[in-house]
Amino acid sequence: MASKKALVLLSGGQDSTICLGWALERFDSVETIAFDYGQRHHIELEARLEVLKRIGAIKPEWSRRLSGDHSLVLTELGRISKTSLTREAEIVISESGLPSTFVPGRNLIFLTYAAAVAYRRGIATLVGGMCETDYSGYPDCRNDTLDSLERTLSLGMDQTFEIQTPLMFIDKAATWKLAQELGGDALVALIIEHTHTCYIGDRTKRNSWGYGCGECPACELRAKGFDQWQADVN
Ligand code: ZN
Repeated sequence: MASKKALVLLSGGQDSTICLGWALERFDSVETIAFDYGQRHHIELEARLEVLKRIGAIKPEWSRRLSGDHSLVLTELGRISKTSLTREAEIVISESGLPSTFVPGRNLIFLTYAAAVAYRRGIATLVGGMCETDYSGYPDCRNDTLDSLERTLSLGMDQTFEIQTPLMFIDKAATWKLAQELGGDALVALIIEHTHTCYIGDRTKRNSWGYGCGECPACELRAKGFDQWQADVN
């Protein structure tokens, strides 16, 4: 029987790092992929290298299963989107109800590139940290969108692809809990010390839940989830 392989979209943030732990528990061979699209801060991309360097130390089988990393440069995506992630602009909520950090179609593009890499690598499962319960309501993170894309990729490449999104229906407190269940205190510590989620790119402030400005929407969400998780366990 062929070994079970997965390709994880690893940005270097909290959610994708937990997805990597989730995949390392379940698959015999786990590869990772990142996209450089001219993010305003390369901090996330540096964070993901730290995660990759350290996550194998949590469990010997995780170390054995980690099977290579891919990095694609998609700067055109940054150039056409003109959002707060790529320009020095304030993060605001637009009339459509979406934050200005929204890059139209970003996850569709990422997953399509990921599928192309997976095809060549003989991998059928893509894993991503997309989440419907996220405050932002990104339409390309919705389960319906990803179900549809899964079908499109499978038809368009004539190979059955599966898109796994372990965080789709859980909130941030449950995400921290999942990290604890997957990799214990060591994975929680790795997330706090080495992942990056802050939109402002602040790594000077060390909070109980990790580094970040503490005020941007991403920090607020992360902090609130952490506090709630702590309150639940204590
Ligand atoms: Zn922040």
